Amino acid sequence: MPAEPDRRPLILVCNDDGINAPGIAALAAAMDALGEVYVVAPATEQSAVGHAITVRDPVRAYPWSFTVPSGEVPAYAVSGTPADCVKLAVNQLLPRRPDLVVSGINRGPNTAVNVIYSGTVSAATEAAILGIDAIAFSLCNWEAQDYHAAAHYAQRIARTVLTHGLPPGILLNVNIPDLPLEAIKGIAITRQARSRWEESFAERRDPYNQPYYWLTGRFVNLDDGDDTDLEAVEQGYVSITPLQHDLTAHAYRAMLNRWDWGELSATAGPSTSNGHERASGDASAEHERTRGSSGPYG
Ligand code: MN
Repeated sequence: MPAEPDRRPLILVCNDDGINAPGIAALAAAMDALGEVYVVAPATEQSAVGHAITVRDPVRAYPWSFTVPSGEVPAYAVSGTPADCVKLAVNQLLPRRPDLVVSGINRGPNTAVNVIYSGTVSAATEAAILGIDAIAFSLCNWEAQDYHAAAHYAQRIARTVLTHGLPPGILLNVNIPDLPLEAIKGIAITRQARSRWEESFAERRDPYNQPYYWLTGRFVNLDDGDDTDLEAVEQGYVSITPLQHDLTAHAYRAMLNRWDWGELSATAGPSTSNGHERASGDASAEHERTRGSSGPYG
């Protein structure tokens, strides 16, 4: 939804590199020109935690000193994940529902399959789940030092999203090449490249002679398309990929419906299960789950 024109938009800034990372300082500064900025970000680095949330431990929010060009803005360092930060901010810490959630600017790319592991993207995904427009920003260099050009594009893209609004459930994943501003060729609308990590584990011994393992890996691009996020960044463009959290492979439902699933499927009928697994204390959700459990999953 586009922001209401008669008041400054409230912009929540989050990340996964932690509240002291240089990328979030650059992003908050870039958002300062567009609206009222709140920063709610993990107290420590949470890269590659994906969409993890904290449910077995308390989550604490420590008021934090955070300065943007116009002065100090409200900020909290949170003892949780990026998704926790967005949930907590929207439910408890912000004075009203934000008009936009921005996440980043991440140190390192979130192109291709990295989207799945990314805490940066997950903060934006959480906002999209809550029905709030959201953008994830990543600078495509693990050793990135200069966030100037990335912040310039972050501001331009956030301004455009505030003007147009995003469709429900859709977030933008933005990857910015680590180039000087004048060397960036512009913006390309892309798709996620097919790729994988070929993993390996270094095995070492701890001081008690017990083995431990450290994940390493080699990124493999399996996609030679010219419209992918990887290709756009490679060619010097800022990549914008629209993402959705509905992971249903809609095209394959018809195929699966044609398979012979044996006796159970013949009588099951359409399941109305809506997956409210977490709402165990919620009577209405409990009722819905019970009502939906007549199929083969019940
Ligand atoms: Mn990160």
